[in-house]
Amino acid sequence: MRVITVGLGARSYDVLIEDGLLDRAGEHLARFTTGRPFIVIADETVAKAQWPRLKAALDSSGIDSDLITLPAGESTKSWAQLEYLLDELLLREVERSDHIIALGGGVIGDLVGFAASILKRGCHFVQIPTTLLSQVDSSVGGKTAINARAGKNMIGSFHQPSLVLIDPTVLDTLDPREVRAGYAEVVKYGLISDPAFFGWCEDEGHRLLAGDSDARAHAIGTSVAAKAAIVGEDERETSGRRALLNLGHTFGHALEAETGFSSTLLHGEGVAAGMALAFRFSAAQGLCPAEDAARVTEHLRAMGLPHDLDSAHVSASGATLVAHMLHDKKRTGGTLPFLLAKGIGQTFLDKTVDLKDVEAFLDADRKG
Ligand code: NAD
Ligand code: MG
Repeated sequence: MRVITVGLGARSYDVLIEDGLLDRAGEHLARFTTGRPFIVIADETVAKAQWPRLKAALDSSGIDSDLITLPAGESTKSWAQLEYLLDELLLREVERSDHIIALGGGVIGDLVGFAASILKRGCHFVQIPTTLLSQVDSSVGGKTAINARAGKNMIGSFHQPSLVLIDPTVLDTLDPREVRAGYAEVVKYGLISDPAFFGWCEDEGHRLLAGDSDARAHAIGTSVAAKAAIVGEDERETSGRRALLNLGHTFGHALEAETGFSSTLLHGEGVAAGMALAFRFSAAQGLCPAEDAARVTEHLRAMGLPHDLDSAHVSASGATLVAHMLHDKKRTGGTLPFLLAKGIGQTFLDKTVDLKDVEAFLDADRKG
């Protein structure tokens, strides 16, 4: 078993990673029992696919439990579902000293984390992430949120979990397209600051996507360790360090907005294309070797991920895409901070980017 500690003083916690961990979850959760049943929250899909395993594990440790199910999908990160969840938790008389358990992807993790942060002024929670994206990214770091009319993740809190249990075997029931989308966030850690890990991705990434146990464990462990280090340094994104995790997200967000945040382009797919665009833009600006940008593009292409506007199903102009970026950041013109690269593993924040250059680059990049 790999154990990674997120070091945040009194709020430090462990992330455990091991095949089959879900079937032994009772051993790790027993220390949180208070005499009341554990309340587990899952979406309907995960409830069918993985709850029976967790229930059996809790039963075999003599731990009572109760399941609350919510609809699957991004729209569950809403006021309506938050209100429903809080009422269900209050009906079950959850107390501040209790731990509630998020069993699911980033949607359930973000919603349950937020509910835990406000229920009776805050109770504890445990993350059991069931998508590759949530295992390598959203379950670690304590960002919780629901969506608002004004945009995604606009209402939320920082509330760290007490424990994160990662069982890579839960990915066996996840749609392969979702696994591939989550893989974009794995590659991201190599591109931010770990060129050797990007090289590993080039060599072994296909084994991860095929479900190889060693490859999954290495990729998840490396990603969680990278995220834990960043969160330990900059929990609330004040020094700029945590902002590096948004590599590819400004370009990617524009692509997601243009495709209506729909199944045309999953978040990780937008991030994949966004990272390729950020590297090619960096090369076009003379900041990054063209060979590095080409390696990034080629790897994402080889893994079946979007890597340019066409493969992201986006036909909009550079001007339209830049307008989406400005809208996201609530700006009206001029400039935006961009995460660019001096090379693979050398991402930095550039506050001097001219949006006219971004527009011209996007139009030229499409013509290739
Ligand atoms: P998700 O939670 O919607 O899961 C994707 C789909 O897979 C859902 O339909 C779900 O029912 C299904 N599913 C999940 N696990 C499964 C399994 N093991 N077997 C079968 N089906 C399974 O989406 P996601 O990609 O995990 O998370 C996206 C969310 O994460 C977004 O809302 C995003 O804002 C958030 N996020 C948060 C952070 C953070 O730091 N808090 C970071 C990144 C993303
Ligand atoms: Mg992301």
